Amino acid sequence: MSYSLTWLPKVLLDAGLKVAECPGWANSGRAEMGSVEGVLLHHTATTINSGNMPSLNTIIHGRAGANALTGPLAQLGLGRDGTYYIIAEGRCNHAGPGIWKGISAGNSHFIGIEAENRGDGKEPWPIIQQDAYARGVAAILKHINKGAEYCAGHKEYRLPKGAKNDPNFDMDEFRDKVRQILNGDSPPKFIPKAEPMGLFRSTLRRGIANDSPLVKSMQQKLKIEIDGFFGIHTETSVRAFQREQGLVPDGIVGPKTWKLIDDATV
Ligand SMILES: [Zn+2]
Repeated sequence: MSYSLTWLPKVLLDAGLKVAECPGWANSGRAEMGSVEGVLLHHTATTINSGNMPSLNTIIHGRAGANALTGPLAQLGLGRDGTYYIIAEGRCNHAGPGIWKGISAGNSHFIGIEAENRGDGKEPWPIIQQDAYARGVAAILKHINKGAEYCAGHKEYRLPKGAKNDPNFDMDEFRDKVRQILNGDSPPKFIPKAEPMGLFRSTLRRGIANDSPLVKSMQQKLKIEIDGFFGIHTETSVRAFQREQGLVPDGIVGPKTWKLIDDATV
């Protein structure tokens, strides 16, 4: 039996995302979906720290035990490195009872994305995964002709309120990002690059959380206020520095900018 979400890999690939098709995905699903109206976001709440998507088998096959649930548990998995795993092209068991935008049959009308994260607030979301999350959701919404308000967190959809806490990031901020992507005025796609000499530091850009040691170190080197928060002021200083150095002033501290910041402060 094959189902109708055949377009998922192409839509994600066309958005510049990394895609891995799981064997058998094209015939996988509980049944055919109804009309696709939006996307529900989840985190896996894995207990496994290592690996890109240790929950993949569970999402494909379902889980046993007290909260047994027949798989597939979502159409898409999102690995820690931003790879989308295509799991099913039919209906999946991810939503449960709830309501969003007047839609209460969640499994029939929402595509589910399970993103790998412990969900305990201790595992940070890698920037590349956050970026891919927003871009993938935007690509799907664009394909089905819906706005950013048609992506919801499981925690927002699920009833009774408080039954679910995933995903553990701010959904209004997330929808703002999706809206920017849909409007075509989002920042450039995040491309991680290893630095020469094996020295790897994360690429920094506006929005990096408070109190980041790496942001502090960069601010110290640029001789600006050291608060560990990459906000608009830091971004302006980075752009000015890049302009001085003849780089594209994109405000993003990638490998080239890191190197010049280092050189300038030796
Ligand atoms: Zn969930």
